[in-house]
Amino acid sequence: MSKSPEEEHPQKAFGWAARDASGILSPFNFSRRANEDDDVTVKILYCGICHGDLHYVKNEFGHSSYPLVPGHEITGIVTAVGPKVEKFKVGDHAGVAPLVRSCRACNNCNQGLENYCPGAVSAFNAIDHDGTRTYGGYSDIIVVNQHYVIRFPNSLPLDKGTPLLCAGITVYSPMKYYGLCGPGTRLGVVGLGGLGHVAVKFAKAFGMKVTVISTSPSKGKEAIERLGADSFLVSSDSEQMKAAMGTLDGILDTVSAFHPISPLIDLLTTNGKLILLGAPEKPLELSVFPLLMGRKLVGGSGIGGMREIQEMMDFAGAHNISADTEIIPMDYVNTALDRLARGDVRYRFVIDVGTTLTT
Ligand code: NAP
Repeated sequence: MSKSPEEEHPQKAFGWAARDASGILSPFNFSRRANEDDDVTVKILYCGICHGDLHYVKNEFGHSSYPLVPGHEITGIVTAVGPKVEKFKVGDHAGVAPLVRSCRACNNCNQGLENYCPGAVSAFNAIDHDGTRTYGGYSDIIVVNQHYVIRFPNSLPLDKGTPLLCAGITVYSPMKYYGLCGPGTRLGVVGLGGLGHVAVKFAKAFGMKVTVISTSPSKGKEAIERLGADSFLVSSDSEQMKAAMGTLDGILDTVSAFHPISPLIDLLTTNGKLILLGAPEKPLELSVFPLLMGRKLVGGSGIGGMREIQEMMDFAGAHNISADTEIIPMDYVNTALDRLARGDVRYRFVIDVGTTLTT
């Protein structure tokens, strides 16, 4: 019989886990592996709440396994390093992103695209190399191979910087790959949530002209005045959408639910690119003719490789980019998930794990 989560490893650990698809989290005792030669142990101080956590705790993709400790935007302090670890020492600030292992041998891994490795292991709800389950950052400690640990720039605050480890790389990577990062490039950002608001910040740092496309008219003023967007469209306003047709070189679509994409394709100029980043549980509808009439492209992108995550964090540190956050105590997490489901957060909840997670 397999061991219980509390007994399978030598280090005691504690966090909050969902037990079923109700998605309600409660305190959970489990364990972490001993720090191996190449490992870094991180005492977790902050963990962001990504909409992906919500999809998983509610089993919206159909492959959640319980108990499930979510969390993949993790920052903290290094408390132990193995003898082969060179990048980190005890006391350093460190970050852990959605990926904690990959095969390191396939074509993707060899190109620094560990995120597309068929053997990639996610920070939670995955099976690790030793057959045990991974548990995420809504917990006190995590043990990760050094290759998957990120150096945290000194200039970034740990709490506001932690969402970059997923939200940041998820928008930065497609900007770079799809050539949507040049000065003057006209970029649309659909959905002003956790991903969307940092997309605006990175795009402005690249010198782009940014249009936010949102279902929430109430976000217009702050999108422009606080986040620095150049214009704001309400997607349900057909007059506004019509007037903006053919004006964008690229669009990052961060919407978490089913939504029509034809009106977005209409906003693109010839050769424009619509990049899907959100993960709606139901398939989206794609009409082909709008693509043919303008050589337009629809693509996707999933987080980023380890080298690029470090590059993104260093870029964020150099350009003072961090998330707009609401810092919450651990025992507020269920309310926070409810509010996230209703779109009631400006723009990322971050759990103050270090001071509020108590056994
Ligand atoms: P979020 O904070 O909830 O933001 C999503 C935004 O989408 C909302 O703020 C809202 O913006 C808009 N929206 C929500 N429901 C909508 C609907 N029915 N129709 C149109 N717009 C809607 O979520 P997030 O953390 O940014 O994550 C967004 C999505 O990206 C999630 O599905 C998540 O799982 C996925 N994700 C993907 C990756 C990847 O690697 N590709 C990585 C991380 C997350 P407005 O109010 O402005 O309309």
